[in-house]
Amino acid sequence: MSTEATHTPDVVVIGGGTGGYSTALRAAALGLDVVLVERDKVGGTCLHRGCIPSKAMLHAAELVDGIVEARERWGVKATLESVDWPALVATRDDIVARNHKGVEAHLAHAGVRVVRGSARLTGARTVRVESVQADSTLAHADAVHAESVRDALDFTARRGIVLATGSRPRTLLGLVPDGRRVVTSDDALFAPGLPGSVLVLGGGAIGAEYASFHRSMGAEVTLVEAADRIMPLEDADVSRHLTRGLRKRGVDVQAGARLLDAEVLENGVRARVRTARGETRTVEAERLLVAVGRAPVTEGLDLAAAGLTTDERGFVEPADWSRLETAVPGIHVVGDLLPPPSLGLAHASFAEGLLVAETLAGLPSAPVDYAAVPRVTYSSPQTASVGLGEAEARARGHEVDVGTMPLTAVAKGMVHGQGGMVKVVAEAGGGQVLGVHLVGPNVSEMIAESQLIVGWDAQPSDVARHVHAHPTLSEAVGEVFLTLAGRGLHQQ
Ligand SMILES: Cc1cc2nc3c(=O)[nH]c(=O)nc-3n(C[C@H](O)[C@H](O)[C@H](O)COP(=O)(O)OP(=O)(O)OC[C@H]3O[C@@H](n4cnc5c(N)ncnc54)[C@H](O)[C@@H]3O)c2cc1C
Repeated sequence: MSTEATHTPDVVVIGGGTGGYSTALRAAALGLDVVLVERDKVGGTCLHRGCIPSKAMLHAAELVDGIVEARERWGVKATLESVDWPALVATRDDIVARNHKGVEAHLAHAGVRVVRGSARLTGARTVRVESVQADSTLAHADAVHAESVRDALDFTARRGIVLATGSRPRTLLGLVPDGRRVVTSDDALFAPGLPGSVLVLGGGAIGAEYASFHRSMGAEVTLVEAADRIMPLEDADVSRHLTRGLRKRGVDVQAGARLLDAEVLENGVRARVRTARGETRTVEAERLLVAVGRAPVTEGLDLAAAGLTTDERGFVEPADWSRLETAVPGIHVVGDLLPPPSLGLAHASFAEGLLVAETLAGLPSAPVDYAAVPRVTYSSPQTASVGLGEAEARARGHEVDVGTMPLTAVAKGMVHGQGGMVKVVAEAGGGQVLGVHLVGPNVSEMIAESQLIVGWDAQPSDVARHVHAHPTLSEAVGEVFLTLAGRGLHQQ
């Protein structure tokens, strides 16, 4: 393999997911000469295997739920004949394809040089890009704007290198996904049809969303979570309301439960689960969906060549979080490759990309305020939170006031009839709002005001001055703030 002459852009970004392409777009907009290396498709996990396809499918699930609700609550004589999976997939994939083209067009328009190949570090400022093998499953013919690498290309980044290689599904020891019976969230997208029964392992956001989706599509669903509640990183009331909502829809939620073993059968899997009560249950399902988290991707990147290592979990930890810069000056990191407090969320990676690009351009840029980044689960019911939960706030030494309200206490919540709640955690005595937690329909769209409330260090009285539209679900948010400010209309 021959090597062309060394190229010397300002910035080399490795990985074209949301973290990488946002860095590249902003850096190019600031006048930097940017190379973005992607071995698969720009858009990464979020666009091709994560946020976008899963939310497209969850939208179809909402439509199915709506038909059931129309018939059972509203006297609308609608019946669901069937779900045409190939048609659903076609619409989903069309949305993904159009977004993909959009990202490619943005990159081309911004003047980012997109190189298709696998990148590895060869020093603190140098990167080699090698070709993706023609027979690789990573090779896609439709990456139109990318320049493919047949020979190796060497780059010396004058200002810096950005690591944005993302993550992949994690699995449990002894549980090998085969793409058919034991599947990851990636495989679930490309399955030939909808299963009649699913055992979902892992009660985080991805597990809850897939459990919810399959239930809407008519499957028998068991959701197994090892922690004592699903969504264990969220406020306990979020877990409680989501559990209640999923159970009401017929999902068998088993928290505090452990998978003992799983046997792959001709038509599915047979798993033994130790329940929270210590009983051993056998669950048979057509599919076992493993959603136990994501693992950072650094294989083949040769971090050592630049003097970098990962932490024990495989993340690349910045030495300086305010610049997302590693211990090697000029090497930055964004996205799912970052450990907590980064959140493994696409919109967190956008913010990280902006910060790193501006830092590389020599501009002052505020560190990412992770406490004010919203966290949303698009299950039915949805959950949306920002800031600290009640227990977490107390554990950090805050004395807190807590305001809660069921969504069904406002008229629009009754119209929706899906339960849910608003919970606000604030510093005691009218102090700063520390966290807002929502469960219910459309709360993914309702969290935006709360992220500003938390991000701008507002107090309940600041929020209570502002009037919420009536009748809306967000009125419940307004009402909780009014109550915390001592001016509640419908609550004392
Ligand atoms: C099912 C699912 C649903 C999700 N839903 C949401 C959601 O609703 N909202 C949300 O905010 N987040 C969601 N996420 C999380 C979101 O997808 C990730 O946080 C986001 O994609 C991380 O972006 P990234 O740029 O760090 O990494 P990735 O998107 O993983 O991109 C990394 C890229 O780097 C490339 N790469 C890796 N190594 C190399 C190399 N050596 N050379 C060249 N290229 C390389 C890969 O091909 C990949 O394209 C979801 C994830 C999943 C799996």
